[in-house]
Formats: sequence, C-alpha cells, structure tokens
Amino acid sequence: AQPAPAQTLSWFDGALVPAEELTAGLTTHAMHYGSGVFEGIRAYATDDGAAVFRLPEHLERMRKGAEMFGLPFDAAQCALATLETLRANGHRDAYIRPLAWFGEGSFGLDVEGHVPHMMVATTATHVHLNGSRARLGVGSWRRNPADSLPPLKLCGGYVNSILAKREAKARGFDEALFTDRENNVVECTGANVFMVRDGRLTAVEHRDALPGITRDTLLQLTGAESRRVPLSELLDADEVFACGTAAEVAPVAQIEERVYGDNPVTRELQALYARVVRGQEPAWRHWLTAV
Ligand code: PMP
Repeated sequence: AQPAPAQTLSWFDGALVPAEELTAGLTTHAMHYGSGVFEGIRAYATDDGAAVFRLPEHLERMRKGAEMFGLPFDAAQCALATLETLRANGHRDAYIRPLAWFGEGSFGLDVEGHVPHMMVATTATHVHLNGSRARLGVGSWRRNPADSLPPLKLCGGYVNSILAKREAKARGFDEALFTDRENNVVECTGANVFMVRDGRLTAVEHRDALPGITRDTLLQLTGAESRRVPLSELLDADEVFACGTAAEVAPVAQIEERVYGDNPVTRELQALYARVVRGQEPAWRHWLTAV
C-alpha cells in the first residue's frame, strides 16, 4: 500500500487536483437549475486490496441520468477516474462521489452552449456509516413522482429529499419516510426500505423510488419478494430496515409512534452484506472491481 498523500486529490476534467481547488463559476447551469447527475459509491478493503463495490452498475445509473438531459457522460472514463483517484489518495475504505454537470454559460434553460464537466471525489470511511438505529418520521412531502422527474440521481431532484429530511429532523426524527397519496411506502430520502413480517423478507417496490443498487444486491442475495407495501403493513412488520450505499443495511428503530423490537434478520443481513462487500463471499466477488 502506498502512503496516503498529505493532501486529498480529486479528479476534475481529466486531471488530479487538490480537493480544495475544485471550483465552479457562478453561472454554472447545474447550480441554477440542477442539471447535474451524481453517484454515491463505496470502496472496501478486501484481502486482495481495495475494491469498488458494483462500480459498473453505479456508472450505468449515472449514464442514464446524464442521458435524460443530454449531458455527455463517458462511463469508462469515469471508472478510470474513480480508480485513479482512489489510488492517488491511498484510500481503501472510501466513499466515492462522481458528479457530472453542465457548467458556465448564459442564463437560460437550454443546456446547449454550456460546458460539460466531471469530477470524482473520494473520502476515507473508517467505520460503517450506519451506526445507530434510525427513527423515521412520515412527513408531508411526497417523493418526486416518476412521471415528473425520473427516479435517478439527478442533482435537482434532491431538493425533494432535502425538504423531507428537514421536516423529519424538525419533528425530532432522524430521517423521513416518503409515502404516496394512497399511503404506500416509497423510500427514505437516500435509502430504500425492506421489512420482515412473519419471517418473510419483502423489499418495498415503488415506481417513484430510486432503483437502489443495495436493494438489488439484497434481493439477489436473499431471493426476497419485491412488491408494493402499504404503510399500515410496514407499521405491522416485525423488522424494518433502510438500505443504500452509504447506509448499508440500517435497522429502523421507530416509525412515528411505532417502536420496533429486536431485529435478528436485519442483523444477519447486515453481517452478510458486510462480508459480500469485503470479498469474503466467493460467489459474489464479481461485484468487486479491484483498485
Ligand atoms: N434512494 C435514494 C433517494 C438514494 O439517494 C439512494 C442512494 N443512492 C438510495 C435510495 C439507495 O441507492 P443505492 O443502494 O444504489 O445507494
């Protein structure tokens, strides 16, 4: 392993630069209108060195998002940039943030004439980001409906998550749970939802929810069912957890007044997920890209 450099480097438009030198002009289209797309990816230390978990799947989702508004995006270049940045920083357990966006130009919605940019930043993660059991509030904000804004990681779409998270926190919760007008569960502000009821594992499915890669990982690992879930059923479940790249498998302690008890199935899945991402489950090593 190389010693970590004194200064964290980020990849920006083809070169590694000190992270603090990442800057964008004030006419940046994405800053005014949200015309960017990002990913949240993780690398883990394995016995064979650092590896990125499900890198092609993350970059394919990013490519789809970029395509929605005509932003040029080269997934192969982004993959190389990701590996180069991790190596340059000597990061092993890391959170990776690629972002592609339309930059400087005139004020106006047309993206034509705006310069496309791409950056990749990495930060070391020393522990699981999901230490504690989350308390969820069911707020008043609806998730962006898929027929208004596709559930991809488009920068502008995250204002919706910010509103919901702020509301949940103001009400004393840690995180928001989105429900639709018919009281079906959608997802959290940055994670998908599963429940365990009478020993049966179910992934919450909803057209407005981001197609999460962690959710897909758990579905493939367990063969769990995936279907629409009314909030009433979630409140009646034995265990509920949220999942996402950053959250990993995060047990839910409470939704509004409903307090959940012990969560043995969630703990088992947390442990399984931890082994899979670290290359300790040979059957799933094809999900890892060596750094
Ligand atoms: N939903 C939303 C809104 C998210 O931002 C995320 C994080 N990317 C997720 C779900 C979980 O997706 P993934 O497992 O691909 O990280």
